[in-house]
Amino acid sequence: MDFRIGFGYDSHRFAPDRPLVLGGIRVPFEQGLAAHSDGDVLIHALCDALLGAAALKDIGTHFPDHDPNYENIDSKILLSKVIELLHQDHWRVNNADCTLILEQPKMKPHIDAMTQTLAQLLHLDPSRLSIKAKTNEKMGFIGRGEGIAATAVVTIIQSV
Ligand code: MG
Repeated sequence: MDFRIGFGYDSHRFAPDRPLVLGGIRVPFEQGLAAHSDGDVLIHALCDALLGAAALKDIGTHFPDHDPNYENIDSKILLSKVIELLHQDHWRVNNADCTLILEQPKMKPHIDAMTQTLAQLLHLDPSRLSIKAKTNEKMGFIGRGEGIAATAVVTIIQSV
């Protein structure tokens, strides 16, 4: 049995006239995130953590931002493809711990829905998926409300 840890980070700037999508769900807010995809910074961090753990390069390698196939794509589809790649190599997800870093909007009302949505995509019991949110104490680009960042740590297990 092989066991790995992966870490992922992503950030996107706010953009007007776009829906805010975080953790696979729509979050009501006055602006969304600028991106080639739907801008789901949490799923992108999670994808990079999973790919990193399996040493399968990164999200930009698999889903280039100049490829029209991925324009405005639902990031849940990207996460499903990443899980497929891991399954091909006999990896399964053991747990994931994610943090959103943003000043606004408040995440507390949305964490449970995100957890349910992402746990299903990860083939994981929700008790093995942690999603947290914190502010940046008004410091830096996040503190000024310019965008949102996310981190993710995952463990994966390979049993052949
Ligand atoms: Mg991204």
